Amino acid sequence: MDLYTEGDPIADTKAPDGPIETRWERRRFEAKLVNPANRRKLTVIVVGTGLAGGSAAATLAEQGYHVKSYCYQDSPRRAHSIAAQGGINAAKNYRNDGDSVHRLFYDTVKGGDFRSRESNVHRLAEVSVNIIDQCVAQGVPFAREYGGLLDTRSFGGAQVQRTFYARGQTGQQLLLGAYQALERQIGLGNVEMNARHEMLELVVVDGRARGIVVRDLVTGEITTEMADAVVLASGGYGNVFYLSTNAKGCNVTASWRAHRKGAHFANPCYTQIHPTCIPVSGDHQSKLTLMSESLRNDGRVWVPKAKGDDRPAKDIPEDERDYYLERIYPSFGNLVPRDIASRAAKNVCDEGRGVGPSGLGVYLDFADAINRLGRKAIEAKYGNLFEMYERITGEDPYEVPMRIYPAVHYTMGGLWVDYDLQSSIPGLFVIGEANFSDHGANRLGASALMQGLADGYFVLPNTLPNYLANAGSFEQVDASHPEVVAARAAVEERIQKLLSINGDRTVDSFHRELGQIMWEHCGMERSEAGLRKAIDEIRALREQFWQRVRVPGDGEGLNQSLEKAGRVADFFELAELMCIDALHREESCGGHFRAEHQTPDGEAQRDDDRFAYVAAWEYTGDQPVLHKEDLQFEYVHPTQRSYK
Ligand SMILES: Cc1cc2nc3c(=O)[nH]c(=O)nc-3n(C[C@H](O)[C@H](O)[C@H](O)COP(=O)(O)OP(=O)(O)OC[C@H]3O[C@@H](n4cnc5c(N)ncnc54)[C@H](O)[C@@H]3O)c2cc1C
Repeated sequence: MDLYTEGDPIADTKAPDGPIETRWERRRFEAKLVNPANRRKLTVIVVGTGLAGGSAAATLAEQGYHVKSYCYQDSPRRAHSIAAQGGINAAKNYRNDGDSVHRLFYDTVKGGDFRSRESNVHRLAEVSVNIIDQCVAQGVPFAREYGGLLDTRSFGGAQVQRTFYARGQTGQQLLLGAYQALERQIGLGNVEMNARHEMLELVVVDGRARGIVVRDLVTGEITTEMADAVVLASGGYGNVFYLSTNAKGCNVTASWRAHRKGAHFANPCYTQIHPTCIPVSGDHQSKLTLMSESLRNDGRVWVPKAKGDDRPAKDIPEDERDYYLERIYPSFGNLVPRDIASRAAKNVCDEGRGVGPSGLGVYLDFADAINRLGRKAIEAKYGNLFEMYERITGEDPYEVPMRIYPAVHYTMGGLWVDYDLQSSIPGLFVIGEANFSDHGANRLGASALMQGLADGYFVLPNTLPNYLANAGSFEQVDASHPEVVAARAAVEERIQKLLSINGDRTVDSFHRELGQIMWEHCGMERSEAGLRKAIDEIRALREQFWQRVRVPGDGEGLNQSLEKAGRVADFFELAELMCIDALHREESCGGHFRAEHQTPDGEAQRDDDRFAYVAAWEYTGDQPVLHKEDLQFEYVHPTQRSYK
């Protein structure tokens, strides 16, 4: 293809071999430790205070390192993780329903459509059980059964009930736990907390990550912050699509700046489109709302059998309804994974059987569950979600079925990391949604919280010290070092450039248009012609952005247009790479569905011979360079994924 060049293959040199159950244990044992007395002399920067960053900063500080923590919100506990609703997976097998570490491992590799690393996923499944213990010890109020054991529910892609939850506010409760651990360390003076600070550049000295450039979002002051290692826990980039379920502030800037400095970006095209979101209602919207997947435990998805049937749901008799997930996928029914459920919803809507004013909606109906279990039971499980739905749509889901439609929700792609979660820049570690590591081409529900906390509480605190212990001496680097001066100057110059264009279009208008291009051509279904068109359109729009954007105000204080402009500028570059990645991957897998590659019954058609690899992209300023990391499957053999 004319849009990129191919470089040397890469490998994950940190992953141990041997029986998979022993790999993490061995890696931990072989890791070199830092003497407790030396830890306080070492400084680690952690960008992000969500579940990944908050747990990592608290744990590293608890170990004795000096931690500097950053987030752009006014409080660390406002990180986007607070929005997570449905739950967190763990192989506790409290239900005695056949779950095990191996089954969670198996489901996750299969759920990711065989595009993740077995070693990483096995470690994730092992650590999942420790996460629940840790959080319970912190006082996280998970739902409990009558007998006192923690309760669980089902999520997509699994036939066991392994999802722990706290009503529809699991992320909030988990984040409060991590936040309290973080606050304890702030109180002890081991964590220096910098809220309302945005990282705008990475500082690399002698090939190692040694600091960041940040802007104080309240005063506008730009400073350089030095450390012995840098951790990015800056979340996902779903907002490249403008409309998504992510918080408005979520962005790619921290990762993208690191990418431009040498960190490979892996599988950028793998985007998760979540099947149960409130449908778009008009042009005025700037955000979409998720209705948690947990609702598919009790809600039944259907559309009318006849095209164009616009009778109210209650007037459509049972035998004129198509419970299409139950019909097509009898073994998993309404709990098929997200990629499958989203595509099925798109298909029935494309056939003209969608519901609601736009025709882009399907029903999620609780009538059966309410009849069977009673309204009170449904209220106890999902009360806050039902309330949220009613507040947004004006319809009472206890009385009429919810209307839902797929929307952008999560990004499986992210900065490439090895088994130690270290990027291709030594000393730069990446955790949580910001890395690409564990979910392959499709993430199963309730696995993001598991991964973020696994990375932050358990993996990074074992691997980062090994880097520090082996790194030798760290040259003293301060603000006068030429690399630091250059990084800071680049930030200042970019801000000045954005402020000086003084054009006639708002940042939001560009972002919205970019999002439309991405949704149309790099969303639920992609094709060669569409992706090529998208790349041309993105390039043209990006050129216009740099000539016509208007950023009012100045850089001397709070300026939200300026913040957004910097983030949208990075989204433009990322969007192009996403389309190139989607174009080069001539197969369908998980969230990446290429129209040209489908089975006769419309399922994703993988091409394991040609594409069983991680696509790690190197930034060159010109054409990106593709490095392939081959994936080996010793334990879960790739098959055509079936949930039928
Ligand atoms: C509505 C919704 C519901 C969800 N529900 C579930 C669920 O039930 N179960 C599940 O497993 N997953 C769920 N997810 C996914 C999950 O919430 C996220 O993947 C996860 O919380 C991400 O955590 P994180 O720590 O990686 O990043 P985040 O929580 O997004 O935190 C990012 C942090 O980085 C900081 N940051 C970013 N860029 C910069 C910068 N340049 N400078 C300084 N700071 C920066 C931010 O301030 C923030 O502190 C849900 C997602 C959404 C959108």
